[in-house]
Amino acid sequence: MGVSNWDALNTQIIGCAQCPRLVAYREQVAQQKRAQFRDWEYWGKPVPNFGEPTARLLIVGLAPAAHGGNRTGRIFTGDASGDFLFDALYRTGFCNQPTSIHRDDGLQLYDVAITAAVHCAPPDNKPTPDEQRACFPYLQATYRLMPNLRGLLALGQIAFNACVRLARAENLLPDDARLQFRHGAVYTLARGRFLAASYHPSARNTYTKLLTPAMMTDLLQQIRARLETNAIATPDDSGA
Ligand code: SF4
Repeated sequence: MGVSNWDALNTQIIGCAQCPRLVAYREQVAQQKRAQFRDWEYWGKPVPNFGEPTARLLIVGLAPAAHGGNRTGRIFTGDASGDFLFDALYRTGFCNQPTSIHRDDGLQLYDVAITAAVHCAPPDNKPTPDEQRACFPYLQATYRLMPNLRGLLALGQIAFNACVRLARAENLLPDDARLQFRHGAVYTLARGRFLAASYHPSARNTYTKLLTPAMMTDLLQQIRARLETNAIATPDDSGA
């Protein structure tokens, strides 16, 4: 995918209509709306990357929520998952406020950008393998446009699989390496990079306390320390 800059990539993502099932679903949700949001004009399109390409950390989510990102047009914005994630990012110095409500709410990210394995809201939050494959080139293009990137943080198994696929495609990981998804794992990749894994901050995972604020904060603190360590790694540093 020959995209020359971040804004062009986001424009391309927003205009994408490759997955017929997801196009139909995101537009249907935008028309029908949830009662509490009936006065909103839903976004109803693919949700672009959030943040700046100069960031050292890229967080990879699953996909926009039907009434969250698909409504507001910004990833992790306007739903309980976003509330959880940004509260933790705020407490660890990765953003300027603990809430993410709408696109013009003043939220700024520090040294982190946020993307998703799939840029359109899927029914039941379950994109098919074909849909995940179709959206993967956007993740790869995102990675290639981030010159300072050192760390990937995958939220949930699907995002983790996409990050492993990316690491293999970019020669950051041997083809025969087997990485297990588990919360708190931080894997060393080639060239001073790393891949961290977290449970997805879905309402189900946070309400049941499978994922707690303390767990997310602890992982983000580890990541921050790792970013600082990797800042002095040599270009050919490889721990994969
Ligand atoms: S999921 Fe990705 S590839 Fe599929 S239509 Fe949305 S943006 Fe395009």
